[in-house]
Amino acid sequence: MRDFAKLPLFLKELRLATMKSLWEPFSKQAIEENWSHVGYLANLCEHEIQARLQNKLKRNLKQAQLPAGKALSTFDFSHAPNLNKAKIQDLAENTTWVNNKENLLIFGPSGVGKTHLAAAIAYGMIERGIRVLFTSTTALVQKLQVARQQLCLPQTLAKLDLYQVLILDDIGYVRKDGAETHALFELIAHRYESGSLIVTANQPFSEWDSIFADITMTVAAIDRLVHHATIIEIAAESYRRTHSLQNI
Ligand code: ADP
Ligand code: MG
Repeated sequence: MRDFAKLPLFLKELRLATMKSLWEPFSKQAIEENWSHVGYLANLCEHEIQARLQNKLKRNLKQAQLPAGKALSTFDFSHAPNLNKAKIQDLAENTTWVNNKENLLIFGPSGVGKTHLAAAIAYGMIERGIRVLFTSTTALVQKLQVARQQLCLPQTLAKLDLYQVLILDDIGYVRKDGAETHALFELIAHRYESGSLIVTANQPFSEWDSIFADITMTVAAIDRLVHHATIIEIAAESYRRTHSLQNI
């Protein structure tokens, strides 16, 4: 069999899809532009690596389930003047806090951009190869509660370890009289110093006794969350309200 016929079969067998689609046009270009053999091969490999990185990014972005369109570039910092823009940009561009298993806690009233900021920072992490999962706290703890009843909570928690960043949106919607409050506490205890959490909350810590079963559990949960954490408080008018009023 001639090399021309064999090469695409070999590249397919080796699962080098990008090289398989590029070897032929690149070989023509190599002749025209006098590339060395090594240069030709290096060029093909580089394109294969780039394509794999792009595919990984796409996969991770899809898995993360971030709300769409919440980028840092579309966040209007003039609406939340108390925020330290440089610090937030650093959190979105620098993976140190994730590598150190630190948390990010975002507080503020409804509509001030907590979810938007959480998603934007997480997007920056995904671009840098970090795996993220965005979820509403109530939806996640309901799943954990079911796992608890089926005696497979440890395995379910271990699956979440795949994600270096777990976003618990609206933690305050969990109610202490619900069975889920225990699952939430176990999640926080499990992630402590082993993986980062981004938590958004409408209520300050002083009102977290409505989330956890008793004062001991409330204090223990807050202790674990804040031990290695950056706290962002957004003091602003509801963006939704301001912008709907402007449109009247
Ligand atoms: P929260 O989670 O604090 O309740 P959201 O992040 O859901 O608020 O924000 C409500 C809406 O307003 C979203 O569509 C969000 O994109 C937008 N928004 C909030 N704050 C800003 C801001 N500073 N710049 C641009 N859009 C914003
Ligand atoms: Mg929100």
